[in-house]
Amino acid sequence: MRIGVAAETAAGERRVAATPETVKKLVAQGHAVLVQAGAGEGASVTDAAYQAAGAEITDSAGALGAELVLTVRSPDAQALALMKPGSVLVGMLDPFDRDGLARLAAAGLTAFALEAAPRTTRAQSLDVLSSQANIAGYKAVIIAANIYQRFFPMLMTAAGTVKAARVVVLGVGVAGLQAIATAKRLGATIEASDVRPSVKEQVASLGAKFIDVPYETQEEKDAAEGVGGYARPMPASWLQRQQAEVAKRVAQADVVIATALIPGRAAPTLITEEMVRSMKPGSVIVDIAAGKGEGGVGGNCPLTEAGATVVKHGVHIVGETNLPALVAADASALYARNVLDFLKLILPKDEGLKIDLQDDIVAACLVARDRQVTRA
Ligand code: NAD
Repeated sequence: MRIGVAAETAAGERRVAATPETVKKLVAQGHAVLVQAGAGEGASVTDAAYQAAGAEITDSAGALGAELVLTVRSPDAQALALMKPGSVLVGMLDPFDRDGLARLAAAGLTAFALEAAPRTTRAQSLDVLSSQANIAGYKAVIIAANIYQRFFPMLMTAAGTVKAARVVVLGVGVAGLQAIATAKRLGATIEASDVRPSVKEQVASLGAKFIDVPYETQEEKDAAEGVGGYARPMPASWLQRQQAEVAKRVAQADVVIATALIPGRAAPTLITEEMVRSMKPGSVIVDIAAGKGEGGVGGNCPLTEAGATVVKHGVHIVGETNLPALVAADASALYARNVLDFLKLILPKDEGLKIDLQDDIVAACLVARDRQVTRA
C-alpha cells in the first residue's frame, strides 16, 4: 500500500500525522510511505529523519495522491483536489461537521474520523481525543503560569511568604485531569467541578478538592450519569446550584482552567461576565472550550475570543483553540501512534485494505464511503 503523509494546511497547525518511528513500522510491514517535503517541520521532524526511517520525500501531489492518506486535520479544498477518488483518508476529520464530511464524500474518499472512536478499553491506544486533550490540559496550565504574575507554589523566603496560587478547573475529563496534575506539580491549590459524579474520586486522588453539588432529583441523577462516559446537558436546576458554587470559587481564584464540553453541542457557559468581574486583577482564565460556545462564539466563558488572548475586567482570558499544536512534537508523536494503531485494524498484517464493519471501532470511525456520508 502507498501511504501518503500530507503537510497540514490549517493556520497554526504544527502537528504531523506520522513520525519517523511510525514510518519505520509501516515500511517494515512492506508499505511505501510518501511524506510531503516539510510535513514534519512544525513538529521538529526533518525530511532527512523521515528518509532515514525509509520514507520517500515527495510534493503535495505525491503525498495526497497516495492510496491511503494520513492527516491531522481535514484537508482543505486544494488538498482535496489532489486526492484520488477511492482513496482512503485517516485523520481528525471533525465528525460533527456535516458540511466537511459531505465534501469528503463528494470527493469519493473512504474517510475515517478518529475522534469518533468509542471510549472503550480496546480503543484506548488509538484514542486521539485523549492523547490530544491530555496535552491541551498540560499546556493550558503552562500558559496560565506564564501569564500569571505571581508564583504557583507557596514559598517561604527570607523576604516573606508567598501564597500558593488558587486554581479552579471546570470540567474534569482528560484535559481537566491533566490540568489538575500539572497545576499540582507546580504547587497550586486546586478545586474542580464536573457534572459526572464518577470524577470525584479521581479529583481527590490527584490532591485536588471536588466542588460538590449534590443531585436533588432523579432527573438530575440520570443526566449526570451521562452516556458512553460523556456528559449530557444537565437540568437547569442543577446548573443554577453549580453556578452558585463555582461563582464563589472563581471569585477567589487566581487561575481558572475551563475544559467543559458536551460532544456535538455548544460548550456550557460556566463563567459568566459577572464572575469575571468578581475576579482579582491579573487573574487568568484559559478557556479550552474557546470557539465552541453557542454559535461557535466564546467557550465556557462568553467573553473568550477564539484564537486570541484578551484582557477583560482586568482578567487575562486565553482563547487558544489548538493547544496541542503548541506542543507539536509530542502531540505528533502520540497522534502518530494513535494513527498506527488504527491502521492495524484496516490494514491487517500481510493483507491489503480490509474495512470490517463488524469491528465497532472501524464502523464508528467511518464517516464517508461510496460518495455518501456514513455517519448518522
Ligand atoms: P469532554 O472533553 O467531552 O468533556 C470535558 C469534561 O467536561 C467532561 O468531564 C464533562 O463531564 C465535563 N462537563 C460537561 N458539562 C459540564 C458542566 N456543565 N460543568 C462541569 N463539567 C462539565 O470529555 P473527555 O475528556 O473526552 O472525557 C469523556 C469521558 O470519556 C470521560 O468519562 C473519560 O473518563 C472517558 N474516557 C474513557 C476512555 C476509555 O475508556 N478508553 C478514554 C478516555 C476518556
